[in-house]
Amino acid sequence: MTVPLVVGNWKMHGSQAECAGLARNILRLQRRKPAQVQLAVAAPFTALAPVKKTLRRTRIGVAAQNCHWQESGAFTGEVSPSMLRDVGCDMVVLGHSERRHIFHETDAVVAQKVEAVLRNGLQVILCVGETLAERRQGRTAKVITRQLRIALKGLAKNAIDNIEIAYEPVWAIGTGQNASPVQIALVHRRIRQLLTAWFGKGAGSRIRILYGGSVKPDNAAALAMTAEVGGFLVGGASLAAESFITIARCFNRS
Ligand code: PEP
Repeated sequence: MTVPLVVGNWKMHGSQAECAGLARNILRLQRRKPAQVQLAVAAPFTALAPVKKTLRRTRIGVAAQNCHWQESGAFTGEVSPSMLRDVGCDMVVLGHSERRHIFHETDAVVAQKVEAVLRNGLQVILCVGETLAERRQGRTAKVITRQLRIALKGLAKNAIDNIEIAYEPVWAIGTGQNASPVQIALVHRRIRQLLTAWFGKGAGSRIRILYGGSVKPDNAAALAMTAEVGGFLVGGASLAAESFITIARCFNRS
């Protein structure tokens, strides 16, 4: 069985020292009473090196929250996948709704980033999700299908082994509102059907589909039991080590 993946998205929070301290606290709590999951933290660019140093020789992965698709060049303010690899990153979060909606990243841009990150041997955490208006118009499945189809177009069949999908309804991110278990299971099932059709049965059944959107210590247990949930992408509640690990431990079966 695939081990669940729980990723903390620290967004634009924390100095180098604060992020390293948070990583250290997560590690301490994980050693004391392990969450039976794979853990990763997505730190701001400026804190990736100290966080990686803190977590070196541990099983906790380090992720960036974005990157450019080119290797180098005149792209002021951007960071390339090879730079992320150089700093010790294991994964990159791509297509987060804040990137799509605040910074106007299109599906085509996300697709270029997916390809570049995989080419550099890093793992992709690909976020998809509908807005409230899209859900109310009954367009959830259509939107998610489009986001996935464009982001994954043209990839080799085995590329899917280095991709995690995070379903993050935009209306649930940072709002305190969760999608219901029924809503989550329906969307995750749809995602799995699409991946099975495009990448084959084996890949479709192996892939972890994470849920993200106001996951907190008091709702995580119910969400972890929801059909098809293979982990979480956690924003606000990942900024405190105790709540992040409490959430991750909801997947413990013993
Ligand atoms: C996120 O940033 O991906 C997220 C899910 O945030 P939150 O948990 O705060 O809703």
